[in-house]
Amino acid sequence: MNKKFLAIFAAKQAGFWSRIMGRGGGAALPGLIAMKIYPEIVTDLTKELGKGVVLVTGTNGKTTTSKMIVEILKANGENVLSNSGGSNLTRGIASALIERSNIFGKIKEEIGIYEVDEATLPKITQFVDPKAIAITNIFRDQLDRYGEVDKTADILRQALKSSPNATLILNADDPIVSSLALYPVIPDAAEGSFKSHEEKEIPPLSTNIEPVEMTKTKNQKNVIYFGINDEKLKAKSDLAIDIKDCLICGTELVYPHRYYGHIGEYVCENCGFKKPKTSITAKNVQLSPIRTSANIKIGRENANLVLPMIGLYNLYNALAAVTAGNFFKIKNTVTFKALNNQKPAFGRMETFAVNGRKAVIHLVKNPIGFNQVLEAITEDRKSKTALIALNDNFADGTDISWIWDSEFELFKNDFRKIMVSGIRSKDLRLRLKYADVTSKIIIEEEDLDTALDQAVKNTNQGETLYILPTYTAMLQIRKKLVKQGILKDYWSN
Ligand SMILES: [Zn+2]
Repeated sequence: MNKKFLAIFAAKQAGFWSRIMGRGGGAALPGLIAMKIYPEIVTDLTKELGKGVVLVTGTNGKTTTSKMIVEILKANGENVLSNSGGSNLTRGIASALIERSNIFGKIKEEIGIYEVDEATLPKITQFVDPKAIAITNIFRDQLDRYGEVDKTADILRQALKSSPNATLILNADDPIVSSLALYPVIPDAAEGSFKSHEEKEIPPLSTNIEPVEMTKTKNQKNVIYFGINDEKLKAKSDLAIDIKDCLICGTELVYPHRYYGHIGEYVCENCGFKKPKTSITAKNVQLSPIRTSANIKIGRENANLVLPMIGLYNLYNALAAVTAGNFFKIKNTVTFKALNNQKPAFGRMETFAVNGRKAVIHLVKNPIGFNQVLEAITEDRKSKTALIALNDNFADGTDISWIWDSEFELFKNDFRKIMVSGIRSKDLRLRLKYADVTSKIIIEEEDLDTALDQAVKNTNQGETLYILPTYTAMLQIRKKLVKQGILKDYWSN
């Protein structure tokens, strides 16, 4: 019996039994088994996807971006395979492939959208030759796992080196991401001779399905840059800037416009490294606590994006998805219809009513995400209340020092009451104190169930209650709301 057949057979058996037994080894188990028997399984099965594979990576937003790309492709009638919702490691991708494959290794789907952890990217590119690689952003996250941001950049550069045929879909506004296109040259830049980003004009599109012009880097890589161009956007927070210096020469970067974190329009006055010209550009950005809208320029075309999601980071995710759609020559009308019909992911800006009060729940996990959520919420100028719930279980991240990098100062604006809860509620209270939020409006209740009841009780008619929990706190809050019939149980459908 050949090894490939055996690998698929064994993996499908494992998947079947783990489903029957409930939980089991999770999404990665079948892939893990198959790769043990036949290490080339990912390479082999990926070849079945005739129109190619796109890898999506970045610190924040890869799940959302992958999901958006899948929906755009499906709206165009494409047959898409993805690992979204599963494991982002090689074995997770192997599992997704095996699940869609028949026992002989035949797959009906034609395009693969693989969501990949940054650290996993070089491993995946050993197995597959992607048609495109989309990178959303690089932030400091899960430090213990990935180290500092420049180390992450090195890891990604290595993966790009081994993907000679991939078109790069890059966030121009993130200097770490945009610098990746320079591989393998990070050369004589220190002497001021750095000119790797082409200066040439990007010609307008002739029709709305023609792909946008790509930038060719010195080393002949095709790059499509996306980004935001909106001078009225301004970062409210100086905290949580992960990178201040030019990646090429180490001089401090100058930001004529900074949108959030290290994202924006930047230039190095020493070597000339700067935000590259974008082919897909968002303008006239409107932020609100429930949606984000913008005018998107794609070559000569203009389209209105009304995203039922909050925060600039989701706008960047959408821009990456628009770029991927353009790369696959999908009509803008199809792309934007798919994006405007997006549903928020589990625990992200879910809106519901409880006791006649409007409530919004949003998962928080790191300073960048937290600041973005808070900035969106402060667009709601009406009187409002908040419930912040901080746990430090393994799934939340045991290091909660990120709250000190988060802009709790914004809680001074228009919040009538703020409940703090969770295992580390005392840390939240202390953080708010240092943010000069008056203790009169803060209520501490460690027990989450009680805190939720109190938060609802403390919210007046016409006010909105914003619930900001870490992961395990969110699960507990949702569980209570599901029990009360207020929210739907995502796991049961
Ligand atoms: Zn420089």
